[in-house]
Amino acid sequence: MAITPLMPVYPRCGVRPVRGEGCHLIDESGARLLDFASGIAVNLLGHSHPGLIEAIQRQAATLMHVSNLYGSPQGEALAQRLVDNTFADTVFFTNSGAEAVECAIKTARRFHHANGNPERHTLITFKNAFHGRTIGTISATDQEKLRSGFDPLLGGFTVVAFDDLAAAEAAVDENTAGFLVEPIQGEGGIRPASREFLQGLRRISDDKGLLLVLDEVQCGYGRTGKLFAHELYGVTPDIMAVAKGIGGGFPLGACLATEHAARGMVIGTHGSTYGGNPLAMAAGEAVLDAVLADGFLENVTRMGERLRGALEQMIPNHDHLFEGVRGTGLMLGLKMKSDSRRFVAHLRDEHGLLTVAAGENVVRILPPLVIGEEHVAEFVEKLSAAARVYVPAADE
Ligand SMILES: *Cc1c(COP(=O)(O)O)cnc(C)c1O
Repeated sequence: MAITPLMPVYPRCGVRPVRGEGCHLIDESGARLLDFASGIAVNLLGHSHPGLIEAIQRQAATLMHVSNLYGSPQGEALAQRLVDNTFADTVFFTNSGAEAVECAIKTARRFHHANGNPERHTLITFKNAFHGRTIGTISATDQEKLRSGFDPLLGGFTVVAFDDLAAAEAAVDENTAGFLVEPIQGEGGIRPASREFLQGLRRISDDKGLLLVLDEVQCGYGRTGKLFAHELYGVTPDIMAVAKGIGGGFPLGACLATEHAARGMVIGTHGSTYGGNPLAMAAGEAVLDAVLADGFLENVTRMGERLRGALEQMIPNHDHLFEGVRGTGLMLGLKMKSDSRRFVAHLRDEHGLLTVAAGENVVRILPPLVIGEEHVAEFVEKLSAAARVYVPAADE
């Protein structure tokens, strides 16, 4: 037997973290790394946040799980807070992002079914999108590396070019249920949609009775300096998938919807054994307490501007390596002229900096949202040192 006990689906690197302290990780060998990956936009309070630890410890000692057979004071409380702070009227809690997107897809299909239009079952989605790894969510993307070997995939998705409003409008037909889109593509390479595009999708949806479904699993929950990225665009969705940051490291996701859009989601139409259990709700409450506290989102905006400014200043010194910076708040992408994966490995292995590679040769910079100026300074200093000595591979 050559297969490893951990199913070998990830190209794991040599860093083996065993402890986290604020914005740093400590690895098995004792090495200390600046964590500007945050578990891929998850640990928005950094590591070992006292409020999050306390909430999980207290709830674990009180009541961890009971199933959705019973009333949920914990779920009602967190759902109410999300409703009070967003466009939504109702929330379904999940354990991951893909499940949140699955719930969003089901909610959209069920809406048209409830309206007597079951033929309106197809969501228009976008090239280079990432919505998760379930059969449903890989069917919603055109990325061959996610789909290969998993046929037959699900029908009910039409993929068109991202940020191309005319293409999206042209794809609408009598089977269209709505649009499923990331306001800022994450895995795809930190590509923000244009204002015209998102506002245009909203307008088409309103005109044609379609639903606008946003995937804010990566760009939501304070990452852009707003609670949700769509607030930057002056657009509200009908349905939205959330996860990653919402639990601050505890596995939690949510599907939010307006009352109108959720009209098909009646008793028996959906469920999850773990979804919204008391332990997850305690983590979600502690994260939301921090995110809604005075000054939290302002810090994201301020640090985002500082970091972007510092990167833009650094780029001309290394213009053989870098093309530019994209993104908003603390969801930034450094576009490279060569393979970003190789540079991310160089940052990690030689300079103690954790970032994440993304599509289009982008280095994703996703720090905890609680960083201060000292972390921005440490990051830029180490990044500059790395850029000074880095030599791209000869064949690039
Ligand atoms: C990470 C991600 C998902 C999937 O979340 P999982 O928790 O890995 O299932 C879906 N959509 C977007 C935009 C993501 O970034």
